Amino acid sequence: MHTKQVGEHIFLIDLETGGFKNLIASYVLKGTKIIIVETGPTSSIPNLLLGLKELNVALDEVAYVAISHVHIDHGGGVGTLLKSLPNAKVIVHPRGTAHLVDPTKLWLQSKQVLGQVADIYGAPEPVPENRIIAAEDGFAINAGNNLHLEAIETLGHASHNLSYHESLNEAIFPGDAAGMYISEFDVVVPTTPPPFHLDVALQSLDKLASFKPQVLYYSHFGKASDGVKRLQDYALQIKRWGEIAEEGVRKGQNAYIITERILREDEVMRKAASFFKPHPVLMKTAIENSVQGFIDYAEKSQA
Ligand SMILES: [Zn+2]
Repeated sequence: MHTKQVGEHIFLIDLETGGFKNLIASYVLKGTKIIIVETGPTSSIPNLLLGLKELNVALDEVAYVAISHVHIDHGGGVGTLLKSLPNAKVIVHPRGTAHLVDPTKLWLQSKQVLGQVADIYGAPEPVPENRIIAAEDGFAINAGNNLHLEAIETLGHASHNLSYHESLNEAIFPGDAAGMYISEFDVVVPTTPPPFHLDVALQSLDKLASFKPQVLYYSHFGKASDGVKRLQDYALQIKRWGEIAEEGVRKGQNAYIITERILREDEVMRKAASFFKPHPVLMKTAIENSVQGFIDYAEKSQA
């Protein structure tokens, strides 16, 4: 399993979900207490456990599993993971708790939105209610070794996305609030599936930038520097996608035409096209679903 140190007391595990490297990351914070940030989906929990072993983490030392949101590529595996972690509590936004306790509806919706990709991720298992901490904005943990993790409510991508600020490394774990980082091209691309709220997402990006992060630890995928600049660039990018979708919807264009225009006009997408085209998961999640998020938002705004 591929693990590496990405900060002071912070380690990344490449979950290699569905056999794809550099797609979904889980992070391990080694304080005097162990915190895992993001579990990834059910199907790659065995890889997460291998990663913990490689990092010499004893399973009973894990005190918290913090997930950004319940979308199955981020928190889908938490119910399965907890069976191996006798002392861990799950940290999730209050609006995410019901989906963890009973993931039936979440799984049905996931299959609708993601199609076959949902089967690559696997169905989520329930989490016992007494192991869940419903974390409001500002909820904080002192993990020891000077590691401090604070939950930041950052909605827009989902109605319940938490980002996490870690002060020792001046870092933020944005979940899906700040797009998807593709290190090969050093670019960020939108993660904006329906129901996406552009105005709320932009407020969340401002809020994250106000923490002045040096580092972003993306769930998709990995560590990136220049945190504030990256958040600001991402805000400009999604504003632009929003304008194109708004104009397209107003002119009665279909999703294909709107997508083609975005791919043509967004410099980042042109740069990263060769990365997406052969990648079935990314074509579905990063392009098709993300553009649809803007189209739905534009349709609602114009209704
Ligand atoms: Zn998501």
